[in-house]
Amino acid sequence: MPEETGKIVLPGELIGTSEEFVPRNGAYEDKGNIYSAVTGIIKTNPKDRSISVSPVTNTPPRLQIGDIVIGQITDVKDSVALIEIAGIKGKGEREIVGAEDAAIHVSNVKDAYVRELSLEFAPFDIVKARVLDLRNMRLTTVNKELGVMKAYCTNCRTVLKKDNDKLKCPKCKRIEARKLSSDYGKGVI
Ligand code: ZN
Repeated sequence: MPEETGKIVLPGELIGTSEEFVPRNGAYEDKGNIYSAVTGIIKTNPKDRSISVSPVTNTPPRLQIGDIVIGQITDVKDSVALIEIAGIKGKGEREIVGAEDAAIHVSNVKDAYVRELSLEFAPFDIVKARVLDLRNMRLTTVNKELGVMKAYCTNCRTVLKKDNDKLKCPKCKRIEARKLSSDYGKGVI
């Protein structure tokens, strides 16, 4: 019997008998034989004699070009800001499982010259951005509603308040600059 754990099988493939195993997820029994229900990898558990098949194909892409994503800035370098994506707007059924890393290149920040990327983003900022490219996971914030949604004072970590087109710390009065989303501070995504 092809019972070795780790083997990849196709739907309908014989993977064991009911004398040897109890079928679980991705497996079914028919007339004493156990078959795979999906394309996947066989897993057996000697303790409860179970056999299951973990699917490996037809996993839908988690992100698509044009998706609006929310994430947190993790690092700001000379030419790119790194961002950890936390969710996709309006796509509840495609919520991110585990964080995904992406980058915003200095040329994709805004519709104007960027002198210094550290004047547009800072670590811990919550950012709304659009997916430009999946292979390199590039995002853009060129749009009025895209950009920083929430930012923390780099001095005292207090949430910054919007003051005209700048941000002001209500605690230490520090003034900071960001590429702001028009939705900054509204708590809406
Ligand atoms: Zn402050």
